[in-house]
Amino acid sequence: MPFLKLGLRPELVQAVERAGYQTPTPIQERAIPLALAGGDLLGCAQTGTGKTAGFVLPILQRLAGRRATSPRALILTPTRELAAQISESVKTYGALLPLKSTVIFGGVGYGPQELALRRGVDIVVATPGRLLDHLQRKTVRFDALEILVLDEADRMLDMGFIQDIRRIVAAVPAKRQTLMFSATMPPAIMKLAGEMLVRPTKVEVAPSATTVTDVSQIGHPVDHDRKRSLLVHLLKDDAMRRTIVFTRTKHGANHLTDHLERHGHTVTALHSNKSQPARAKALGDFRAGRARVLVATDIASRGIDVADVSHVVNFDLPNSYEDYVHRIGRTARAGATGCAISLISEPDRDLWRDVERMAKTPIQQQVVEGFEPTPGRARSSGDGGRRGARPRGSVPGRGDRGGSYSRRFGRPVSA
Ligand code: AMP
Repeated sequence: MPFLKLGLRPELVQAVERAGYQTPTPIQERAIPLALAGGDLLGCAQTGTGKTAGFVLPILQRLAGRRATSPRALILTPTRELAAQISESVKTYGALLPLKSTVIFGGVGYGPQELALRRGVDIVVATPGRLLDHLQRKTVRFDALEILVLDEADRMLDMGFIQDIRRIVAAVPAKRQTLMFSATMPPAIMKLAGEMLVRPTKVEVAPSATTVTDVSQIGHPVDHDRKRSLLVHLLKDDAMRRTIVFTRTKHGANHLTDHLERHGHTVTALHSNKSQPARAKALGDFRAGRARVLVATDIASRGIDVADVSHVVNFDLPNSYEDYVHRIGRTARAGATGCAISLISEPDRDLWRDVERMAKTPIQQQVVEGFEPTPGRARSSGDGGRRGARPRGSVPGRGDRGGSYSRRFGRPVSA
């Protein structure tokens, strides 16, 4: 079905065609007509499904044709990178309409944000913390708000944004359209939906496990303390053109980045201890191909949309299957194929079993020649052999907002 059939105006159809999209994705096909009709929507979808256009296009259509002095649409999202990406999408899809938008997030100065808000915008894309600061400083008001989007709601709750969100929602008109998207629908999300949505239509697409069918997955068993050498070895393969490597901690990410650099690789790191300009630069270098490898932690990388990622490497296994799916979903974006490699040391065994159980399929395991794991060694080797032990030298830290706490494994992680 072409975009025109969804009831979108020609300026929007033209803009998505210019972006190279030929047909709407399943979430777009379902969400766009519903959102255009004005009702509340609860979408179960994750990044990679095209959900951004699913809510941005109807917003642009509903706001087009009228101007206002204060924002009429607000999109809340958990991370700065996601906010920046959504803001780009708003600009791309809205290029042929006279609507103004701005993006608000922490880690950068207030001045330019205040100026943009003062000049007047139709659409605000924001992370909750900084937006709340603006509300408290009275540099923004939402008296005229018509549409509220809560994007990646489960992650916003994980990151401890719930109180900020409640305060923001209390500052917007009760009579509004609310669109909420979440990759998972745990009870806390259903409760939030019950508070914030009115008779929502539920739209569900491709649950986690089916979104990643285009990713070939493999596990390499290896001794914990040889993971770094194995990665250097794997990177000799030119097929790993554009690779994201995930570590569990910021410290681990820095450490690994130094190691890969020493071995002659162009590497950049992305985690929440970096300043916003440094994060933007890291992502920019990776996107532009100036760095072949991006070393990242989970929170900082949520929703990163870089085209043409050839490989994702789980240097450390993630704490939940949900994160596993999110990570490997960074490759194989929008129909491309990709490859996900997990380095499995003895301490990772329990997590790996969980991944396989949740994936409902055994994932191929292959020992790499020269990196055979030492039998029966790791559990007593003091290399983090206890399940849940922090890698040596890592410090417990805070994520963007106090880190996240894995629901499935109950372990605090710092990203
Ligand atoms: P999202 O899930 O919104 O993060 O989108 C994932 C990726 O799919 C982004 O790179 C979009 O540019 C791309 N995309 C979104 N909609 C479509 C579409 N209808 N056809 C092809 N690609 C799309």
